[in-house]
Amino acid sequence: MKQNFSYQHTKALPLQWVLIVPFVLQILGAVGLVGYLSFKNGEKAVQDLAQQLTKRTSYQVNSHLDMYLGLPHQVNQINANALRLGLLKGRERKTIGKYFWQQMQVYHLTYIAINLPTGEAIGAARYDGKTVTIDDIAAKTPSLPKNVTTYSTDRDGNPTQILATSTWDTLNESTYTKPIKAGKPTWTKIYTYYDPAYPPYVAASASHPVYDANHKLLGVMVIDIHLLKLSEFLRNLEIDRSGQVFILERDGMLVANSAKEQPFIVANKEIKRFKATDSPNPVVQEVAKQLQQSIPNLHTLSDRQNLKMNIRGEPYHVQIAPWRDRYGLEWFVVTSVPESSFMGQINANTQTTLWLCVLALAVATVLGIFTSRWIAIPIWRVNQASQAVAVGDLDQIVPGGNIQELNGLAHSFNQMAGRLRDSFAASEKSKAELEQRVEERTAELRQAKETAEVANRIKSEFLANMNHELRTPLNGILGYAQILQRDPATTTKQLKGLGVIYQCASHLLTLINDILDLSKLEVQKMELYRQDFHLANFLASTVDICRVKAEQKGVEFHYQPAANLPVAVHADDKRLRQVLLNLLSNAVKFTDVGTVTFRVEPVDMPTESDCIRRIRFQIKDTGIGIPAEKLATIFLPFEQAGKRERNIEGTGLGLAISQQIIEKMGSTIQVQSILGQGSCFWFEVDLLLTSDWTVEHANHQKVIGYLGERRKILAIDDRPENRLVVVNMLEPLGFKLVEADNGLAGLETALQMRPDLIITDVHMSVMDGLEMTRRLRQLPDFATTPIVASPATLSQVDMQASLDAGCSCFFPKPIEFMGLLAELQRLLQLQWVYEALPERTQAVTTSDDEEIVLPPLTELTALHTAVRGGFMTDVQQEALRIKQVAPEYAAFANRVLELSQKFDDEAILSLLELVV
Ligand code: ADP
Repeated sequence: MKQNFSYQHTKALPLQWVLIVPFVLQILGAVGLVGYLSFKNGEKAVQDLAQQLTKRTSYQVNSHLDMYLGLPHQVNQINANALRLGLLKGRERKTIGKYFWQQMQVYHLTYIAINLPTGEAIGAARYDGKTVTIDDIAAKTPSLPKNVTTYSTDRDGNPTQILATSTWDTLNESTYTKPIKAGKPTWTKIYTYYDPAYPPYVAASASHPVYDANHKLLGVMVIDIHLLKLSEFLRNLEIDRSGQVFILERDGMLVANSAKEQPFIVANKEIKRFKATDSPNPVVQEVAKQLQQSIPNLHTLSDRQNLKMNIRGEPYHVQIAPWRDRYGLEWFVVTSVPESSFMGQINANTQTTLWLCVLALAVATVLGIFTSRWIAIPIWRVNQASQAVAVGDLDQIVPGGNIQELNGLAHSFNQMAGRLRDSFAASEKSKAELEQRVEERTAELRQAKETAEVANRIKSEFLANMNHELRTPLNGILGYAQILQRDPATTTKQLKGLGVIYQCASHLLTLINDILDLSKLEVQKMELYRQDFHLANFLASTVDICRVKAEQKGVEFHYQPAANLPVAVHADDKRLRQVLLNLLSNAVKFTDVGTVTFRVEPVDMPTESDCIRRIRFQIKDTGIGIPAEKLATIFLPFEQAGKRERNIEGTGLGLAISQQIIEKMGSTIQVQSILGQGSCFWFEVDLLLTSDWTVEHANHQKVIGYLGERRKILAIDDRPENRLVVVNMLEPLGFKLVEADNGLAGLETALQMRPDLIITDVHMSVMDGLEMTRRLRQLPDFATTPIVASPATLSQVDMQASLDAGCSCFFPKPIEFMGLLAELQRLLQLQWVYEALPERTQAVTTSDDEEIVLPPLTELTALHTAVRGGFMTDVQQEALRIKQVAPEYAAFANRVLELSQKFDDEAILSLLELVV
């Protein structure tokens, strides 16, 4: 089977795309995922790192604070021990001063002093941060307002000269009062001191009260430690330049910060410390503010806390850790680091990843293109080659490549193409041989066909000739039978005889037609010619033919037409009669004793709107029957079922033709038969009803002439007997007939006499009827003259040719008188004159010399049907009804009643046939 696949219309992707796109997508996915994960990990690492850094920084700060702020108390403890042990004696202020001077050389402290309960005090100080001086403080008395004398010292700590004097109320200073009140070492508040000669002094004081064994106060040891050093320390921590570390007091005052700005300001000769929230450093200030918001109760904070803040649009990691010592300091170390200091690298990495991604993509795409081309090109080559093979170009060789599998494919393709080539060559060869053989055979067949055609043509010609030859004498017989039937001189007996002659000749005609039909059957040329006809009359006349034969054989013949049959129908009456005659005559032929019953009845109930009735025709006999195995073949031409001697009469064609005719009518003949008991043939056909069947059609009155002027009719036929039939049929009606024996003579006669109508044969010597018609039609005078073509054949070809030549109608021989009259009436618009009916009544004399008045034909139709149907009760009813119509019909009715009681339907029919 050939299949057409169309690849063009499907939405196929190019191989390159299939190879590149997934490859690139894979790379993109992998690189993207790796990039994303590394970014996420980096972010997490940054988080961890930031926390670690802030944690480490705050540890560093805490331990530095522990150490730095632990030192004053340690030194105080040493000095307190020395005082308690009596190593330092209050009275020897000069020695103590020198001792403190020595200590100042060791420890990087700002001030070391002892306050004595006497109000006296001695201390070594480093006010300018470098040089150690000694303060000798006497008890403050009104007489000595400047009780502090500051000495410069020599290299060994001996006072050399007085640098300055000032006032100091030792006993009322918090450095003295606060530790005594606490009764233990403690920190006094951070205090500031401004002297333009020295750097700003911001220090925390550690005080240590010293008691003797009796709990008597010996003095208060005091050490100041400069807090600016803490800021310096913080600045030196290794954190990002934009990160800040600062130390807060509980009240939010800034102790130290890593910012370049100092945690205080000098204004009006005073040092003013900042609150962290007022710091000039924006980061410190902002962090402090946000801390205040997120941890409103700062003093309750006991553990370190990590926060993430947004400082001026930048994320910061912030940690706040509390720091306290046992001497009462409670500070908070705040470390803040901008995320950017870590993210910088991460972002750089991300960018690198992105670039790598793009690079990988580009490389993957280029690689993909190359790889796919590498794969696609050999496939493309195979594809091209297969397409070429598909359109019949088999000379295809696909070159090999570098890919093993594709190489294999190319190799297989080449092999396949080679095989195809071979097999095509072989098939071409055998095709050529076959063609030659076919040609030879065709030539033989053509020869045989020509021979057969010649034979067939000869046969057809023979049949046509025979048909023509046989129809011509039949035209004479049938024509004259009709002419004589109409002759008033003909007696009833002669009339009956003429009727038989007419019917037998008709049968003969039918047989001739059968032979013609057979040849038509062979070429499927059988046609139906439908016309309106009176059904009851048609059936009655058909039955009559067979009844005669049945009577001769002594077989009972029952005709049973249903009462509700339609009056007139439109069908091919000749063909229907042919079928019925065949079935009826077969029934009579194959029945020796018993009956033949012919039943005609409608099979459906009529409705008013129906224009079609289905009629069933059934012919049943009590004859010899047909063997079951023959039932199927009797409808085939030349098939005869019975014994040889039985078939002498038949040809075996009847049923075949009948079946064809009924099939043309849209039905089939069916048969049931029991050997030795009889057969039943039936068929049902749909017959078109003729609604406007006029009384005129059914009028049995005899036409004797026509109204108006005498019409001239030209009869042209090469057979004198045929012309004679026409002349004898029409002359008695008052037509003037002129004859011609060929077309040319007809033409001349026509020009001379100017006939009103021409009846012409078709096939004639000298000039045929059609040529004559064509010539006549060219003459203006004969443009509309009715011309009836009447050949001795019933051929469709003749009919068409006649109409094409210009004939008005086609009326084949043998001429049917009533039909001819109908045509003349139509073509010449004639009005017939009928023979007058004898005064409504007609009288006959029976054999008993009894005069019987016959009712008119119209009163007898129902009686006629009842007698033909053999229904004696119906006959009697009709007879009684006629008796009532008029008293003069009583004798007729009585006669019918009498005959009906004897079941003598034949006699009744004879009586009825007297009515003309
Ligand atoms: P034929 O010209 O021989 O009658 P038909 O075609 O009419 O040809 O019939 C074919 C054969 O069918 C007949 O020869 C006969 O054997 C058989 N046949 C037809 N009708 C009857 C019947 N009514 N009874 C018995 N045999 C029949």
